[in-house]
Amino acid sequence: MIEVAGAGMAGLVVAARLRELGVDAAVREKGTRVGGSMLLSSCVLWRHADWDTFRAECPDGDERLQRLVWERLDDGLAWLRSLGAEPVWDETGNPCTTGQRFDPRSLTTMLAERAGEIELHSGVLDDAPTILCTGGFAASSELVTRFVAPAGSLRLRANPWSTGDGLNHALARGAALTGGMAEFYGRNMPDADWDETQLVSLSQLYGRFARCFDEDGVEFFRAEDVSWSESNIVQATARRPGAKAFYILDAAALEQWVREQTVAEIVAAAPAEARVSLTDLPFDPPEGALAAVRVIASITHTVGGLRIDDRARVLDAGGTPLEALWAAGVDAGGVATGGYASGLAQALVLGLVAAEDAAAAI
Ligand SMILES: Cc1cc2nc3c(=O)[nH]c(=O)nc-3n(C[C@H](O)[C@H](O)[C@H](O)COP(=O)(O)OP(=O)(O)OC[C@H]3O[C@@H](n4cnc5c(N)ncnc54)[C@H](O)[C@@H]3O)c2cc1C
Repeated sequence: MIEVAGAGMAGLVVAARLRELGVDAAVREKGTRVGGSMLLSSCVLWRHADWDTFRAECPDGDERLQRLVWERLDDGLAWLRSLGAEPVWDETGNPCTTGQRFDPRSLTTMLAERAGEIELHSGVLDDAPTILCTGGFAASSELVTRFVAPAGSLRLRANPWSTGDGLNHALARGAALTGGMAEFYGRNMPDADWDETQLVSLSQLYGRFARCFDEDGVEFFRAEDVSWSESNIVQATARRPGAKAFYILDAAALEQWVREQTVAEIVAAAPAEARVSLTDLPFDPPEGALAAVRVIASITHTVGGLRIDDRARVLDAGGTPLEALWAAGVDAGGVATGGYASGLAQALVLGLVAAEDAAAAI
Protein backbone atom coordinates (compact mmCIF):
# COMPACT_ATOMS: atom_id res chain seq x y z
CA MET A 1 0.00 0.00 0.00
CA ILE A 2 1.29 3.43 -0.94
CA GLU A 3 -0.02 6.65 0.53
CA VAL A 4 -0.55 9.60 -1.75
CA ALA A 5 -0.70 12.95 0.04
CA GLY A 6 -2.63 15.50 -2.02
CA ALA A 7 -5.16 15.19 -4.83
CA GLY A 8 -4.15 18.06 -7.08
CA MET A 9 -2.47 17.54 -10.42
CA ALA A 10 0.46 15.47 -9.18
CA GLY A 11 -1.51 13.41 -6.66
CA LEU A 12 -4.27 12.54 -9.10
CA VAL A 13 -1.72 11.53 -11.75
CA VAL A 14 0.14 9.39 -9.18
CA ALA A 15 -3.05 7.70 -7.99
CA ALA A 16 -4.34 7.06 -11.52
CA ARG A 17 -0.99 5.61 -12.61
CA LEU A 18 -0.67 3.41 -9.49
CA ARG A 19 -4.15 2.07 -10.08
CA GLU A 20 -3.28 1.37 -13.71
CA LEU A 21 -0.22 -0.55 -12.48
CA GLY A 22 -2.38 -2.56 -10.09
CA VAL A 23 -0.92 -1.03 -6.91
CA ASP A 24 -3.12 -0.21 -3.90
CA ALA A 25 -3.01 3.43 -2.93
CA ALA A 26 -4.60 5.43 -0.12
CA VAL A 27 -5.18 8.93 -1.48
CA ARG A 28 -5.69 11.68 1.06
CA GLU A 29 -6.69 15.24 0.30
CA LYS A 30 -6.53 17.91 2.97
CA GLY A 31 -8.97 20.27 1.27
CA THR A 32 -12.71 20.22 0.78
CA ARG A 33 -12.40 19.18 -2.86
CA VAL A 34 -9.99 17.52 -5.26
CA GLY A 35 -8.02 19.34 -7.96
CA GLY A 36 -5.78 21.63 -5.88
CA SER A 37 -4.54 24.62 -7.81
CA MET A 38 -4.94 22.71 -11.06
CA LEU A 39 -8.68 23.24 -10.84
CA LEU A 40 -8.15 27.02 -10.66
CA SER A 41 -5.58 27.13 -13.43
CA SER A 42 -5.52 27.98 -17.13
CA CYS A 43 -4.51 24.33 -17.51
CA VAL A 44 -1.89 24.73 -20.20
CA LEU A 45 0.62 21.88 -19.91
CA TRP A 46 3.72 23.04 -21.72
CA ARG A 47 7.45 22.80 -22.14
CA HIS A 48 9.93 25.06 -23.85
CA ALA A 49 9.99 24.26 -27.56
CA ASP A 50 13.73 24.20 -27.51
CA TRP A 51 15.97 22.55 -24.87
CA ASP A 52 18.63 25.28 -24.97
CA THR A 53 15.97 27.93 -24.37
CA PHE A 54 14.71 25.98 -21.34
CA ARG A 55 18.22 25.85 -19.93
CA ALA A 56 18.83 29.52 -20.69
CA GLU A 57 15.53 30.61 -19.11
CA CYS A 58 15.84 28.39 -16.02
CA PRO A 59 19.63 28.33 -15.65
CA ASP A 60 19.80 27.35 -11.98
CA GLY A 61 17.55 24.29 -12.23
CA ASP A 62 18.69 20.68 -11.85
CA GLU A 63 19.58 19.68 -15.39
CA ARG A 64 18.61 16.02 -14.88
CA LEU A 65 15.13 16.91 -13.66
CA GLN A 66 14.69 19.45 -16.41
CA ARG A 67 15.67 16.82 -18.99
CA LEU A 68 13.17 14.40 -17.49
CA VAL A 69 10.28 16.88 -17.68
CA TRP A 70 11.29 18.16 -21.11
CA GLU A 71 11.74 14.68 -22.62
CA ARG A 72 8.73 12.97 -21.01
CA LEU A 73 6.06 15.64 -21.29
CA ASP A 74 4.86 14.61 -24.74
CA ASP A 75 4.47 10.99 -23.57
CA GLY A 76 2.71 12.24 -20.47
CA LEU A 77 0.25 14.19 -22.59
CA ALA A 78 -0.32 11.11 -24.72
CA TRP A 79 -1.01 9.14 -21.52
CA LEU A 80 -3.60 11.73 -20.43
CA ARG A 81 -5.29 11.47 -23.82
CA SER A 82 -5.22 7.67 -23.58
CA LEU A 83 -7.24 7.99 -20.37
CA GLY A 84 -9.82 10.11 -22.17
CA ALA A 85 -8.60 13.69 -21.62
CA GLU A 86 -9.46 15.87 -24.59
CA PRO A 87 -7.32 18.94 -25.19
CA VAL A 88 -9.18 22.17 -25.91
CA TRP A 89 -6.12 23.59 -27.69
CA ASP A 90 -3.38 21.66 -29.40
CA GLU A 91 -0.84 24.42 -28.98
CA THR A 92 0.00 27.01 -26.38
CA GLY A 93 -0.26 30.14 -28.53
CA ASN A 94 3.32 31.02 -27.54
CA PRO A 95 6.08 30.32 -30.09
CA CYS A 96 8.62 29.70 -27.27
CA THR A 97 6.60 26.79 -25.93
CA THR A 98 4.76 23.67 -27.02
CA GLY A 99 2.02 21.78 -25.23
CA GLN A 100 -1.72 21.42 -24.83
CA ARG A 101 -4.48 23.14 -22.94
CA PHE A 102 -7.24 21.22 -21.17
CA ASP A 103 -10.41 22.28 -19.45
CA PRO A 104 -9.35 22.14 -15.77
CA ARG A 105 -12.68 20.84 -14.49
CA SER A 106 -12.92 18.03 -17.07
CA LEU A 107 -9.30 17.04 -16.51
CA THR A 108 -9.79 16.96 -12.73
CA THR A 109 -12.97 14.90 -13.03
CA MET A 110 -11.40 12.42 -15.42
CA LEU A 111 -8.28 11.95 -13.28
CA ALA A 112 -10.29 11.71 -10.05
CA GLU A 113 -12.38 8.91 -11.57
CA ARG A 114 -9.20 7.07 -12.53
CA ALA A 115 -7.63 7.69 -9.12
CA GLY A 116 -10.22 5.67 -7.18
CA GLU A 117 -11.34 6.56 -3.69
CA ILE A 118 -10.06 9.83 -2.26
CA GLU A 119 -10.44 10.75 1.39
CA LEU A 120 -11.17 14.47 1.76
CA HIS A 121 -10.40 16.67 4.81
CA SER A 122 -7.44 14.41 5.52
CA GLY A 123 -4.01 16.01 5.81
CA VAL A 124 -2.15 13.76 8.21
CA LEU A 125 1.18 12.38 7.06
CA ASP A 126 2.80 9.34 8.64
CA ASP A 127 5.83 7.12 8.09
CA ALA A 128 4.19 4.70 5.63
CA PRO A 129 5.57 4.64 2.06
CA THR A 130 4.34 7.98 0.76
CA ILE A 131 4.35 10.07 -2.38
CA LEU A 132 4.19 13.72 -1.35
CA CYS A 133 2.02 15.80 -3.67
CA THR A 134 0.92 18.57 -1.31
CA GLY A 135 1.61 21.46 -3.70
CA GLY A 136 4.45 23.31 -1.96
CA PHE A 137 4.05 26.04 0.63
CA ALA A 138 2.53 29.09 -1.11
CA ALA A 139 -0.40 29.12 1.33
CA SER A 140 1.78 29.22 4.45
CA SER A 141 2.41 32.83 5.41
CA GLU A 142 4.99 31.60 7.90
CA LEU A 143 7.04 29.66 5.31
CA VAL A 144 6.57 32.32 2.62
CA THR A 145 7.83 34.94 5.07
CA ARG A 146 10.78 32.73 6.01
CA PHE A 147 11.88 31.79 2.51
CA VAL A 148 10.32 34.06 -0.12
CA ALA A 149 9.25 37.51 0.98
CA PRO A 150 10.49 38.62 4.40
CA ALA A 151 7.94 41.45 4.51
CA GLY A 152 5.23 38.77 4.41
CA SER A 153 2.90 40.80 2.22
CA LEU A 154 2.30 38.56 -0.83
CA ARG A 155 -1.29 37.69 -1.70
CA LEU A 156 -2.18 34.05 -2.36
CA ARG A 157 -3.21 33.19 -5.92
CA ALA A 158 -3.73 29.44 -5.50
CA ASN A 159 -5.53 26.82 -3.42
CA PRO A 160 -5.54 27.61 0.33
CA TRP A 161 -4.35 24.21 1.58
CA SER A 162 -0.78 23.98 0.26
CA THR A 163 0.85 25.11 3.47
CA GLY A 164 4.10 23.15 3.26
CA ASP A 165 2.96 19.91 4.90
CA GLY A 166 5.00 17.79 2.49
CA LEU A 167 8.03 19.99 3.00
CA ASN A 168 7.81 19.91 6.80
CA HIS A 169 7.20 16.17 6.87
CA ALA A 170 10.22 15.41 4.69
CA LEU A 171 12.46 17.89 6.51
CA ALA A 172 11.62 16.15 9.78
CA ARG A 173 12.77 12.91 8.16
CA GLY A 174 16.09 14.43 7.08
CA ALA A 175 15.35 15.69 3.57
CA ALA A 176 17.42 18.38 1.87
CA LEU A 177 16.11 21.49 0.16
CA THR A 178 16.97 22.72 -3.32
CA GLY A 179 18.23 26.16 -4.22
CA GLY A 180 15.78 28.82 -5.34
CA MET A 181 13.76 28.75 -2.12
CA ALA A 182 13.12 32.50 -2.47
CA GLU A 183 11.67 32.12 -5.97
CA PHE A 184 8.03 31.78 -6.86
CA TYR A 185 5.70 31.77 -9.83
CA GLY A 186 2.83 34.21 -9.62
CA ARG A 187 1.17 37.21 -11.13
CA ASN A 188 0.70 40.85 -10.31
CA MET A 189 -2.97 41.10 -9.39
CA PRO A 190 -5.12 44.18 -8.76
CA ASP A 191 -4.70 45.48 -5.21
CA ALA A 192 -8.37 44.89 -4.44
CA ASP A 193 -10.69 42.13 -3.33
CA TRP A 194 -10.95 39.10 -5.63
CA ASP A 195 -11.74 35.44 -5.20
CA GLU A 196 -10.51 32.13 -6.58
CA THR A 197 -12.79 32.30 -9.63
CA GLN A 198 -10.94 35.43 -10.81
CA LEU A 199 -7.33 34.28 -10.54
CA VAL A 200 -6.88 34.00 -14.30
CA SER A 201 -9.15 36.79 -15.56
CA LEU A 202 -7.78 39.48 -13.23
CA SER A 203 -4.08 38.78 -13.83
CA GLN A 204 -2.49 42.09 -14.81
CA LEU A 205 -0.30 40.57 -17.48
CA TYR A 206 0.92 43.70 -19.25
CA GLY A 207 4.00 44.70 -17.22
CA ARG A 208 6.00 44.62 -20.44
CA PHE A 209 4.04 47.61 -21.75
CA ALA A 210 3.83 49.60 -18.51
CA ARG A 211 6.09 51.81 -16.50
CA CYS A 212 6.40 50.33 -13.06
CA PHE A 213 6.79 52.42 -9.89
CA ASP A 214 6.72 51.42 -6.25
CA GLU A 215 4.75 53.18 -3.49
CA ASP A 216 7.70 55.53 -2.93
CA GLY A 217 7.68 56.61 -6.58
CA VAL A 218 10.82 54.66 -7.47
CA GLU A 219 10.71 53.27 -11.02
CA PHE A 220 12.14 49.83 -10.28
CA PHE A 221 11.74 47.70 -13.39
CA ARG A 222 12.12 48.60 -17.05
CA ALA A 223 9.53 47.32 -19.51
CA GLU A 224 12.25 45.99 -21.82
CA ASP A 225 13.57 43.74 -19.04
CA VAL A 226 10.24 42.00 -18.44
CA SER A 227 10.35 38.31 -19.44
CA TRP A 228 7.55 36.85 -21.62
CA SER A 229 6.09 35.09 -18.58
CA GLU A 230 6.36 38.35 -16.53
CA SER A 231 7.64 36.17 -13.71
CA ASN A 232 10.61 38.47 -13.13
CA ILE A 233 8.60 41.68 -12.70
CA VAL A 234 6.28 39.89 -10.25
CA GLN A 235 9.23 38.71 -8.16
CA ALA A 236 10.71 42.22 -8.26
CA THR A 237 7.36 43.66 -7.13
CA ALA A 238 7.36 41.19 -4.21
CA ARG A 239 10.51 42.86 -2.94
CA ARG A 240 9.14 46.43 -2.98
CA PRO A 241 7.33 48.04 -0.01
CA GLY A 242 4.08 46.19 0.67
CA ALA A 243 4.81 43.95 -2.36
CA LYS A 244 2.89 46.58 -4.35
CA ALA A 245 3.50 48.62 -7.48
CA PHE A 246 1.76 51.01 -9.81
CA TYR A 247 1.55 50.10 -13.48
CA ILE A 248 1.39 53.39 -15.38
CA LEU A 249 0.12 53.27 -18.94
CA ASP A 250 0.27 55.72 -21.83
CA ALA A 251 -1.77 55.68 -25.03
CA ALA A 252 0.56 53.28 -26.86
CA ALA A 253 0.53 50.84 -23.92
CA LEU A 254 -3.26 50.83 -23.67
CA GLU A 255 -3.55 49.84 -27.33
CA GLN A 256 -1.35 46.73 -27.00
CA TRP A 257 -2.86 43.26 -27.15
CA VAL A 258 -2.40 40.56 -24.52
CA ARG A 259 -3.90 37.30 -25.71
CA GLU A 260 -7.40 38.25 -26.93
CA GLN A 261 -7.71 41.60 -25.13
CA THR A 262 -6.23 45.06 -25.32
CA VAL A 263 -4.47 46.40 -22.26
CA ALA A 264 -7.20 49.06 -22.06
CA GLU A 265 -9.82 46.29 -21.75
CA ILE A 266 -7.86 44.48 -19.04
CA VAL A 267 -7.47 47.72 -17.10
CA ALA A 268 -11.18 48.54 -17.49
CA ALA A 269 -12.08 45.10 -16.09
CA ALA A 270 -9.90 45.54 -12.99
CA PRO A 271 -11.77 46.32 -9.75
CA ALA A 272 -12.34 50.05 -9.30
CA GLU A 273 -10.31 50.13 -6.04
CA ALA A 274 -7.19 49.22 -7.99
CA ARG A 275 -7.67 51.78 -10.77
CA VAL A 276 -6.02 54.84 -9.32
CA SER A 277 -6.69 58.35 -10.54
CA LEU A 278 -3.46 59.98 -11.71
CA THR A 279 -4.03 62.84 -9.29
CA ASP A 280 -4.13 60.36 -6.38
CA LEU A 281 -0.76 58.79 -7.14
CA PRO A 282 1.79 59.26 -4.34
CA PHE A 283 4.26 60.64 -6.94
CA ASP A 284 4.11 62.80 -10.07
CA PRO A 285 2.92 60.69 -13.02
CA PRO A 286 5.34 60.43 -15.92
CA GLU A 287 4.59 62.40 -19.06
CA GLY A 288 1.94 60.85 -21.28
CA ALA A 289 0.40 58.76 -18.46
CA LEU A 290 -3.29 58.03 -19.01
CA ALA A 291 -4.05 55.26 -16.52
CA ALA A 292 -2.65 53.76 -13.33
CA VAL A 293 -3.36 50.40 -11.71
CA ARG A 294 -2.13 49.46 -8.25
CA VAL A 295 -1.01 45.84 -8.30
CA ILE A 296 0.15 43.43 -5.62
CA ALA A 297 2.53 40.53 -6.14
CA SER A 298 0.57 37.31 -5.72
CA ILE A 299 2.07 33.85 -5.28
CA THR A 300 0.76 30.84 -7.18
CA HIS A 301 3.43 28.34 -6.24
CA THR A 302 6.92 28.02 -4.93
CA VAL A 303 9.90 27.07 -7.11
CA GLY A 304 12.29 25.71 -4.50
CA GLY A 305 11.34 22.62 -2.54
CA LEU A 306 12.44 19.12 -1.67
CA ARG A 307 15.51 17.77 -3.36
CA ILE A 308 14.66 14.66 -5.40
CA ASP A 309 16.50 12.43 -7.84
CA ASP A 310 15.39 11.44 -11.33
CA ARG A 311 13.21 8.68 -9.80
CA ALA A 312 11.41 11.33 -7.71
CA ARG A 313 12.90 9.91 -4.51
CA VAL A 314 13.41 12.49 -1.77
CA LEU A 315 17.09 12.93 -0.98
CA ASP A 316 19.04 13.91 2.11
CA ALA A 317 21.87 16.43 2.05
CA GLY A 318 24.35 13.72 1.07
CA GLY A 319 22.23 12.70 -1.93
CA THR A 320 20.97 9.45 -0.38
CA PRO A 321 17.27 8.62 -0.93
CA LEU A 322 15.13 8.58 2.20
CA GLU A 323 13.31 5.33 2.89
CA ALA A 324 10.10 5.03 0.81
CA LEU A 325 9.50 8.74 0.34
CA TRP A 326 8.87 10.37 -3.04
CA ALA A 327 7.81 13.88 -4.06
CA ALA A 328 6.08 15.11 -7.19
CA GLY A 329 4.63 18.38 -8.44
CA VAL A 330 5.45 21.56 -6.61
CA ASP A 331 6.66 19.69 -3.51
CA ALA A 332 9.74 18.86 -5.57
CA GLY A 333 12.08 21.78 -6.13
CA GLY A 334 14.80 22.41 -8.64
CA VAL A 335 13.03 22.29 -11.99
CA ALA A 336 12.27 25.92 -12.86
CA THR A 337 14.94 27.54 -10.71
CA GLY A 338 16.08 30.88 -12.09
CA GLY A 339 13.06 31.24 -14.35
CA TYR A 340 9.65 29.87 -15.16
CA ALA A 341 8.38 26.52 -16.42
CA SER A 342 5.02 24.77 -16.41
CA GLY A 343 4.03 23.57 -12.94
CA LEU A 344 1.43 21.27 -14.45
CA ALA A 345 4.01 19.65 -16.72
CA GLN A 346 6.28 19.13 -13.70
CA ALA A 347 3.36 17.59 -11.78
CA LEU A 348 2.40 15.29 -14.65
CA VAL A 349 5.87 13.99 -15.43
CA LEU A 350 7.14 13.71 -11.85
CA GLY A 351 3.83 12.15 -10.84
CA LEU A 352 4.25 9.41 -13.44
CA VAL A 353 7.90 8.88 -12.51
CA ALA A 354 7.11 8.71 -8.77
CA ALA A 355 4.23 6.28 -9.26
CA GLU A 356 6.30 3.97 -11.46
CA ASP A 357 9.28 4.00 -9.09
CA ALA A 358 7.12 3.46 -6.00
CA ALA A 359 5.22 0.62 -7.71
CA ALA A 360 8.50 -1.10 -8.53
CA ALA A 361 9.85 -0.58 -5.01
CA ILE A 362 6.88 -1.89 -3.03
C1 LIG B 1 -4.73 30.80 -11.55
C2 LIG B 1 -3.70 29.75 -11.88
C3 LIG B 1 -3.33 29.55 -13.20
C4 LIG B 1 -2.37 28.56 -13.51
N1 LIG B 1 -2.13 28.29 -14.83
C5 LIG B 1 -1.23 27.32 -15.12
C6 LIG B 1 -1.00 26.94 -16.47
O1 LIG B 1 -1.69 27.36 -17.41
N2 LIG B 1 -0.01 26.03 -16.73
C7 LIG B 1 0.71 25.46 -15.73
O2 LIG B 1 1.60 24.66 -16.00
N3 LIG B 1 0.47 25.75 -14.43
C8 LIG B 1 -0.49 26.64 -14.11
N4 LIG B 1 -0.77 26.91 -12.80
C9 LIG B 1 0.00 26.21 -11.76
C10 LIG B 1 -0.52 24.79 -11.55
O3 LIG B 1 -1.86 24.82 -11.20
C11 LIG B 1 0.32 24.10 -10.47
O4 LIG B 1 1.68 24.15 -10.84
C12 LIG B 1 -0.08 22.64 -10.29
O5 LIG B 1 -1.42 22.55 -9.90
C13 LIG B 1 0.84 21.98 -9.28
O6 LIG B 1 0.39 20.66 -9.04
P1 LIG B 1 0.56 20.03 -7.59
O7 LIG B 1 -0.11 18.72 -7.62
O8 LIG B 1 1.96 20.13 -7.17
O9 LIG B 1 -0.26 21.04 -6.64
P2 LIG B 1 -1.84 21.25 -6.59
O10 LIG B 1 -2.46 21.01 -7.89
O11 LIG B 1 -2.06 22.59 -5.97
O12 LIG B 1 -2.33 20.14 -5.56
C14 LIG B 1 -1.84 20.06 -4.24
C15 LIG B 1 -2.92 19.40 -3.41
O13 LIG B 1 -2.37 18.97 -2.16
C16 LIG B 1 -3.35 19.19 -1.14
N5 LIG B 1 -2.69 19.15 0.17
C17 LIG B 1 -1.93 20.08 0.77
N6 LIG B 1 -1.46 19.61 1.95
C18 LIG B 1 -1.93 18.34 2.08
C19 LIG B 1 -1.79 17.33 3.08
N7 LIG B 1 -1.08 17.51 4.20
N8 LIG B 1 -2.39 16.13 2.87
C20 LIG B 1 -3.17 15.90 1.78
N9 LIG B 1 -3.36 16.85 0.82
C21 LIG B 1 -2.71 18.05 0.96
C22 LIG B 1 -3.94 20.52 -1.54
O14 LIG B 1 -5.19 20.73 -0.92
C23 LIG B 1 -4.07 20.35 -3.06
O15 LIG B 1 -5.30 19.74 -3.42
C24 LIG B 1 -1.76 27.82 -12.47
C25 LIG B 1 -2.18 27.99 -11.15
C26 LIG B 1 -3.15 28.94 -10.85
C27 LIG B 1 -3.62 29.08 -9.43
